[in-house]
Amino acid sequence: MIKQLRASAGIWFSLHGTNFIVDPGPGTIVRVNKTRPKLPLDNLDAIYLSHRHLDHSGDVNVMIEVMTDGGFKKRGTLLCPEDALKDDPVVFQYTRKFLDKIEILIPGVRYKINNVEIETGIGQNHGCETYGFKIYSEKIPVISYIPDTEYFPHLVDYYKNTDILIISVVFYEKREGILHMCLSEALNIISAIKPGKAVLTHFGMSMLKNKIWEKEEEMKEKTGVDVIAAYDGMTVDV
Ligand SMILES: [Zn+2]
Ligand SMILES: [Zn+2]
Repeated sequence: MIKQLRASAGIWFSLHGTNFIVDPGPGTIVRVNKTRPKLPLDNLDAIYLSHRHLDHSGDVNVMIEVMTDGGFKKRGTLLCPEDALKDDPVVFQYTRKFLDKIEILIPGVRYKINNVEIETGIGQNHGCETYGFKIYSEKIPVISYIPDTEYFPHLVDYYKNTDILIISVVFYEKREGILHMCLSEALNIISAIKPGKAVLTHFGMSMLKNKIWEKEEEMKEKTGVDVIAAYDGMTVDV
């Protein structure tokens, strides 16, 4: 995030006319305005914040203004953990007033955004309240997102039956005591879940130094799954 070797602008979902952004970190407003083809900024329906850390929440207030036409149109939903709103909140009091709805994430609960259902995943092990999700919508595959977390076996139980898995992999090699996943742990999860496609994202320096994008074939052989390494501006057709 600090050096912006990779952008910290989160993930934009466009599913049958429903638009939401996940984890709008610093620079999101710049990236979403530069993207070609243009993103439908006027039709942003929701913002999903997996956790309060700055690399995920830096532009959350800015994106609330995007969704509400600078605060002039009361609309849209923010989904976030409770601790994003409490002591030292990352969502300002004044921007909350622009929103139509705030949904506080509770594991296992499904939230409806138009024709899309977002089910909050199990709590991650990451030092603050952190939740991924599974997306259910007619005529699209099940899309899951595992955000920042330390590896723990229960991840596999919850995220099985996923068609497209988006998984945050910060470290190339295991670093003890830091609540992030490394590549071998992520590949173990992918091998166990066997999604149709797995997208690795949220790379730290060691993933870039080891040129993770050159290892897709190797990862496919290891897991039996179509594993791809995300890059800035990548589009995945679902
Ligand atoms: Zn984090
Ligand atoms: Zn992070």
